[in-house]
Amino acid sequence: MTDGIAVIGLGRFGGAVAESLLRLGHDVLGIDESAELVQQWADRLTHVVQADATNGDTLRSLGVHDFRHAIVGIGTDIEASVLTVLALDELGVPDIWAKALGSKHGRILERTGAHHVIYPEATMGERVAHLVTGKMIDFIELEDGYAIVKTCAPRGAVGRTLAQCGWRSEQGVTVVGIKRLRGGFEPGLPETLIREGDLLIVAGPTARVEAFAART
Ligand code: ADP
Repeated sequence: MTDGIAVIGLGRFGGAVAESLLRLGHDVLGIDESAELVQQWADRLTHVVQADATNGDTLRSLGVHDFRHAIVGIGTDIEASVLTVLALDELGVPDIWAKALGSKHGRILERTGAHHVIYPEATMGERVAHLVTGKMIDFIELEDGYAIVKTCAPRGAVGRTLAQCGWRSEQGVTVVGIKRLRGGFEPGLPETLIREGDLLIVAGPTARVEAFAART
């Protein structure tokens, strides 16, 4: 089994994934039915092939069954997205990621064999909603309703240590790190003193973290 990654559908999403994987030093096999896109990627990807990914025999002849990871970036054509995931599942690819346009599409992909379903637009929309309200500088929601945010330190906390603030017991959130105004990140320890202009990296259940950031 190869450690390379097959990226199927080199549109905006698949293309961005392939680009990042290359930067991280991975071998990427790109597959797209568009001759134009294949041409565009030809000298950047390790291998790029023009093919219809819904066809399991074609995928097998390309050696996709030997890949540990496959990412399906096809979205607009839901039928093609589902059939591709099904073909990958039938080939026994152990780690299948697929992009979904919405929750129904996502449910079908899960049933068809996707191990991870990504909702790029919903996820980005939620992130932007948090950022645009101004309290959070960055927001990442992990699975199961757990989030990490970057937010300003509450004014009243300046000059106190994290232990004195007692947010973990009172508000159910943990400050995992602090970004100093002029300086780098420091881990959040009980004795860490909060200074003017600090940004806090706060982790906890999403609702708790949202409530904490709203009060800063
Ligand atoms: P995005 O919004 O990320 O660009 P799209 O769903 O519009 O996503 O594009 C996905 C890509 O998948 C397109 O480049 C398209 O050519 C490709 N694609 C669609 N159907 C197939 C298929 N059956 N086999 C291979 N590639 C496909």
